[in-house]
Amino acid sequence: MSTPAPREDFPALHRTVPGGETLVYLDSGATSQKPQVVMDAVTHQEMHSNGAVKRGSHTLAAESTIAYEKARESVARLVGADPEEIVWTKNSTEALNLIAYVIDDISRGRGEAVVRGGRKKKERLSAIQERLTLREGDNVVITAAEHHANLIPWQELCIRTGAELRWFDLTEDGRIDVADGVIDENTKVVAFTHVSNVTGAVSPVDEIVARAQAVGAVTVLDACQSVPHIPVDLHALDVDFAAFSGHKMLGPTGIGALYGRTELLEAMPPFLFGGSMVEIVRMDKTTYANPPARFEAGTQPVAQVVGMGVAAEYLMNIGMDAVERHEYELTKRALEGITQIPGVRVLGPTSPDQRLGVVAFDVEGVHPHDVGQVLDAQGFAIRVGHHCAQPIHQHFGVHASSRASFAPYNTAEEVDRFLEALARVRSYFGLEDEELR
Ligand code: PLP
Repeated sequence: MSTPAPREDFPALHRTVPGGETLVYLDSGATSQKPQVVMDAVTHQEMHSNGAVKRGSHTLAAESTIAYEKARESVARLVGADPEEIVWTKNSTEALNLIAYVIDDISRGRGEAVVRGGRKKKERLSAIQERLTLREGDNVVITAAEHHANLIPWQELCIRTGAELRWFDLTEDGRIDVADGVIDENTKVVAFTHVSNVTGAVSPVDEIVARAQAVGAVTVLDACQSVPHIPVDLHALDVDFAAFSGHKMLGPTGIGALYGRTELLEAMPPFLFGGSMVEIVRMDKTTYANPPARFEAGTQPVAQVVGMGVAAEYLMNIGMDAVERHEYELTKRALEGITQIPGVRVLGPTSPDQRLGVVAFDVEGVHPHDVGQVLDAQGFAIRVGHHCAQPIHQHFGVHASSRASFAPYNTAEEVDRFLEALARVRSYFGLEDEELR
């Protein structure tokens, strides 16, 4: 079977595991493998163009700056944003923390430093800061399907500001239940995942955004599991902020992005302070650069940025529609197969529609770590544990699960081999299918 991302582009897919089995990599939801072009771009940047960005006039500094900004354009294009709306961060976790920290700072009255300009501009920035101010009586809405990265920063923010943390519960099959009354006129922030990293369920973004906008709340989309797998247009989705990570979208580790509407970023004080994020510094006072530089303090991971830009170009070259179609077929095949295996329960929707290719499952009577080990010995790399999403596991009545996840380099044959291996797992533990009948 041909794959949208040619397998020969990915050196890691051709290795074996101890014991000699060929690797079948089904853990791209945790971190994806990288094509050679991404690693070549990182190496080239480090070997030939390494220089500090925006800090020098020599050739290497200039080349680095050009590559750094070109990557921003590529990543912006992948997600339907403008380049100045993309802030480089270490990963999605940092991007989500950045928003929560800055809202905390604004809530403590520390936004003043960026309210500059003429009267009209100052009024506009102050009005936006008011939208981003949390007080007792206000609330932040999340969902019970969140990765801890989009849960704990909001928990902490609520503890610090006295706001209330609320959440949408889940339907029986783990979809977000957009019940009435959770978002109300006191809601200031609505933060939710685009795609669950456990069930693969795609959230009803339009509905949640419409409800949030109706009460003037800002929206934060955790797009970690969507950007690498489906076409994402952040302007069309009309969210205020979004976060995603390079290492899940065929790019390097150590780099991610925060998307923010320009007017919001402009009204936000810096998160970290230091070099590269300033205009004028005096001993008693500093003025800050405009976004995105305002949020990129210190020497940045230039090679990783360049690699993320090349990963974005790689995905756009193969086409996000093609990626989506291919992964839909893999997910359909996996769901059809897993639901046939006695003693194995899919956590989440069992129809491939409105869900993507992260497929968590519970093997009755076998701990996920044992499932993972048995499969690893046969070459299958899957994720086991709570996947940094404990509340949704509680919802399904389990502490942990096993999870297979797909990328544009996986084949239908790999899915079939995985299904055969999974069907045998319980027998290694003396649990025969007959017991279940
Ligand atoms: N959100 C979701 C839905 C995820 O799947 C992950 C990673 O697994 C994260 C956030 C955090 O990403 P990172 O560890 O790259 O910051």
